[in-house]
Amino acid sequence: MNTVITEKLVSEKESLFPNLESLFCDINIHEYQKAVNKAQESVISFLEDTHKPFSGISPRELRKQFENINLNDPSHTYEEVFEEVKELYTQHAIAFHHPKYVAHLNCPIVIPAIAAEMLISSINSSLDTWDQSAGGTLIEQKLIEWTSNEIGFDNLSDGIFTSGGSQSNLMGMLLARDHYSLKYLNHNIKKDGLSKDAHRFRIFVSDAAHFSIQKSASILGLGEQAVVKIKTDRSFRMNSVLLEDAVRKEIENGNIPIAVVATAGTTDFGNVDPMINIAGIAKKYNLWFHVDAAYGCALLLTDKYRHLIKGIEDADSVTVDYHKSFFQPVSSSGFIVRDKKYFGLITHYADYLNPKDHDENEIPNQVNKSIQTTRRFDALKLWFTLRIIGKKGLGGYIERIIHTAKEAAVLLENDPNFELLNRSDLSALVFRYSADPFKTFDLNRINTYIKSQLYKNGNALVAGTKVNGQFYLKFTILNPLTTVEDIKSIVKTIKKHGNEYIEVN
Ligand SMILES: *Cc1c(COP(=O)(O)O)cnc(C)c1O
Repeated sequence: MNTVITEKLVSEKESLFPNLESLFCDINIHEYQKAVNKAQESVISFLEDTHKPFSGISPRELRKQFENINLNDPSHTYEEVFEEVKELYTQHAIAFHHPKYVAHLNCPIVIPAIAAEMLISSINSSLDTWDQSAGGTLIEQKLIEWTSNEIGFDNLSDGIFTSGGSQSNLMGMLLARDHYSLKYLNHNIKKDGLSKDAHRFRIFVSDAAHFSIQKSASILGLGEQAVVKIKTDRSFRMNSVLLEDAVRKEIENGNIPIAVVATAGTTDFGNVDPMINIAGIAKKYNLWFHVDAAYGCALLLTDKYRHLIKGIEDADSVTVDYHKSFFQPVSSSGFIVRDKKYFGLITHYADYLNPKDHDENEIPNQVNKSIQTTRRFDALKLWFTLRIIGKKGLGGYIERIIHTAKEAAVLLENDPNFELLNRSDLSALVFRYSADPFKTFDLNRINTYIKSQLYKNGNALVAGTKVNGQFYLKFTILNPLTTVEDIKSIVKTIKKHGNEYIEVN
């Protein structure tokens, strides 16, 4: 072949197959190793260089660095991109693993789960159907079975991994709505849409429940008005006497109670609603009983505190958030139902994906139970975690966290500079700095100032929340490495900023 033709062929080939070395496949193992080694180096530098939970950078400062980036210029090496992303992201990322990160419900993560992430994203199975996942489906099913067992469900139960507690709660409310309508009103919402009665459906939650229940109600066409908030008692648990009153009142007003949600571990206070009482009321009034254990599923891991979540086994559906309290990387969550038949309410068959005859041939297609189609194999992270650390190991972490939270509560309670609002079943404490003997200052302002100073300095991160219209600070302790000494030091810093505010103003 003459050289002109050869060159032409080569250039055609190049234009037909650009950048082939970036594709994940056997001929590019060297490239793969290079890339993941760089990624690993970058993660290790993140650990070595991070000495506080946050750099304190402002959105404005950071946004400036994005201005001259042209995403249509791909001429970069891995070194350059990791360096760039370090500037834009890594060095300012919030460090959930830092012992002085005690803000939101973000746990530090375990190494076995990170190892699993490599496999998950590299092999990239999709868990919607057997023919896209094979063993992945069985691993997920086995973990769901394990979780159901821990909850105390029998072998009728089933479940699915979801993207998070919000999605699990949405599924709970979806099943509650469609189940009620079909069973008691003989109306099939999946097929026919909402009936004229649907605007009278009512869902009961405590006033400390997660906002995703309201969001679910609006997504489901019931409107936020469908959610009836029941007052919590002094320990921020749903008052079950008020719950029954409210259910009766709604019925008297011509409305249709369909579900009650007990929160096992509220986001702000970490307290568990009285589930046995609530289960009783649910039964009496034919309500779907959903337990939002996004946070409180941690209690399933420890024999010492397991009793605090008793009653969860009476639920019709349960939300568990492995990425909240099983030390899993985002995302990893579960939605578990007492009886697998309920999933029939949301099953849709697609000829190309999960034809009905697959069911008859016992081909397991997880998409039948999910509101997602393509879905990550998040379950593998929990598999690695249970195989390497085990339930007892994770339970040890949880016991330690709860212990630290108890000590932190005592610390705050005995300090005249603070008002502590709650004792926690789990590890969330709501409090405020209140050292203003002459009541000259607005405590909301002082505490808002404290929170913003902490954020600016980044040495310790706490959360903020409002209770009865008042601003409070919040510790969410999820790191077994956080010690009482760390808490003492954070408390000291809070005091310093509080005093500073009083001196300056
Ligand atoms: C965090 C949380 C949720 C939502 O979970 P995501 O995983 O963030 O979607 C739901 N319920 C409770 C009680 C939570 O704390």
